[in-house]
Amino acid sequence: TTIAVLRERAEGETRVAATPETVKKFIALGAAVRIESGAGATASIGDDDYRAAGAEVVAEGAAQGADIVLGVQGPEVELLAGAKPGAWVAAGLDPFRRRDRVDAYAAAGFEALAMEFMPRITRAQSMDILSSQSNLAGYKAVLVAADHYGRAFPMMMTAAGTVSAAKAFVMGVGVAGLQAIATARRLGAQVSATDVRSATREQIQSLGAKPIFVENVAGIEGEGAGGYATEMSEEYQKAQAELVSSHIAKQDIVITTALIPGRPAPRLISDAQIASMKPGSVIFDLAVAQGGNVEGSVADQVVVKHGVKIVGYSNTPAHLPADASALFSRNLYNFLSAFWDKEQGKPVLDEEIGNAIRLTHGGKVVNERLLG
Ligand code: NAD
Repeated sequence: TTIAVLRERAEGETRVAATPETVKKFIALGAAVRIESGAGATASIGDDDYRAAGAEVVAEGAAQGADIVLGVQGPEVELLAGAKPGAWVAAGLDPFRRRDRVDAYAAAGFEALAMEFMPRITRAQSMDILSSQSNLAGYKAVLVAADHYGRAFPMMMTAAGTVSAAKAFVMGVGVAGLQAIATARRLGAQVSATDVRSATREQIQSLGAKPIFVENVAGIEGEGAGGYATEMSEEYQKAQAELVSSHIAKQDIVITTALIPGRPAPRLISDAQIASMKPGSVIFDLAVAQGGNVEGSVADQVVVKHGVKIVGYSNTPAHLPADASALFSRNLYNFLSAFWDKEQGKPVLDEEIGNAIRLTHGGKVVNERLLG
């Protein structure tokens, strides 16, 4: 089995889908690994590091003869020229927004595996790119917000007087939100947080933050398939908006992380709420690339409204390329190695995970989330 790793082409993408560590491990399984020259440069991994790990490094045609092509984002189909018929393409494929590319994989006869469709089951946790990348994103969001904030996070008592602690509010307490809470706490902020899933209340408390929750409204569970959030009732949304309005006016830092799979991100903060905040406050919108939780946020720009800075990156994990690549690469290795069939010398997927992540097979789009 030949595994190919291409240099990422998407703008602003700094990650790479294999590291010298995972290259060694793939070779130990019996695979050959081919890396496109320069693939690791932005993640501080040189061609020589890959060679030392046992990979072949090529300037062109890395996909030639490949059985499996790995990517962080999906490679455009032209880059897969020469890969074996039926070759696997395993990456974050962004299937809803890049349906055109999924169709192109199907037409070319490739088997596309969307790593973001990995089911949220215990045995797949180590293969879950959404978790590994969201965790880093939650951390980075707080650091960037802190950097844009003209004050300090911790309370400081100095000879010149006291600096008061920043108040930070995290909206959406999934993987990214939990790490944002922990990071803001480590920096010394007073942290509060909210989510539509009531199960997060205890998680917020266990991190030493204050839960801010809508009480006594129908449909409060907010938890749907796979532990993901659902869209909330109008009544709930109204109650949430009121609660958030009174809370947000007192906050210095707000980190929003709310996502609903396959839907635009829910709008959590309106322009009027921004206007109620103190000048100099900072909002980091982690959902900006999915449509944004914050009215007026623009990806990769610092927008100033009513004296409040609104920040958000189109690709937050790409701002931590080395760690993000290391964890992403391990997710891919954990996935392929878990299914490695020693006799056939290649991975063979089971039904539960195969059906969840396989987008294309035998020239057709086969995933029910895309057919539905
Ligand atoms: P996500 O990225 O899909 O969404 C982020 C958070 O935003 C979620 O907590 C969601 O409930 C919240 N949210 C959505 N709409 C909201 C609104 N209107 N207001 C406030 N908050 C809103 O979520 P995620 O990080 O992928 O985590 C979802 C769940 O999956 C969590 O319970 C997480 O622990 C779980 N999970 C399980 C596994 C596993 O078992 N393999 C792996 C990762 C995550």
